[in-house]
Amino acid sequence: MKAIQIGGITPLTTIDFPDHLATVLYCQGCNLRCQYCHNPELIKICSGAYQWLAIQHFLTRRVNLVEAIVFSGGEPLIQPGLVEAIQWCKQQGFKVGLHTSGSLPKHFKAILPQLDWVGFDYKAPPSVATVITGNRAYYKKCLSSLNSLLQSNIPYEIRTTINCQLLSPDQLLSIAVTLASYKVKHWILQSFRPGNILNTELNQKSHYYHLEQLLPDIKQYVANTQIRYY
Ligand code: SF4
Repeated sequence: MKAIQIGGITPLTTIDFPDHLATVLYCQGCNLRCQYCHNPELIKICSGAYQWLAIQHFLTRRVNLVEAIVFSGGEPLIQPGLVEAIQWCKQQGFKVGLHTSGSLPKHFKAILPQLDWVGFDYKAPPSVATVITGNRAYYKKCLSSLNSLLQSNIPYEIRTTINCQLLSPDQLLSIAVTLASYKVKHWILQSFRPGNILNTELNQKSHYYHLEQLLPDIKQYVANTQIRYY
């Protein structure tokens, strides 16, 4: 089997795969450098803390207890062994979800038919996408992946992390306009969570706006928009 590097695990969660009890496997390594990343220890592309064999033993004891396995990260799509790991999970009877930045469109499109649910990060409009992710190619690739996702029939959630220093109200509204043009129906605004993040300067509240006040305008474009607080 090709290698899959797992850097962390949440054994049981009710919030990472809608309406399912799930286990989250955090893949080690990421191709982006998001300033607000709250898993900075998972960014480095290296060996993970967990052996896949140990994960398999762990998961086989949870068949009939856990309903879904979610591959998160890091960016799971950089893992050469992801397809085989997903197939193994399916053989055990688990549903499979994926959290992704959408920055690897070819890998994403190829793996989509294997998935039961996708949590898709649409991080920023083009004007600030590079500033937030540190990757100049991100925005174009994200759009390509979004197209693939929306053309599939796979349930999804589009998520955007809101840090008021990185994303202005106007920029947030411009995302809403773009998502509406793609006919996105369900959008989650994730409030920024200060703490152990890549750019710790973002922990200072130098600038702030209330998401709730923007919601009526945003909902004119994407009706089912919700704010998620952590
Ligand atoms: S927040 Fe950005 S840098 Fe961190 S794991 Fe996700 S995509 Fe990678």
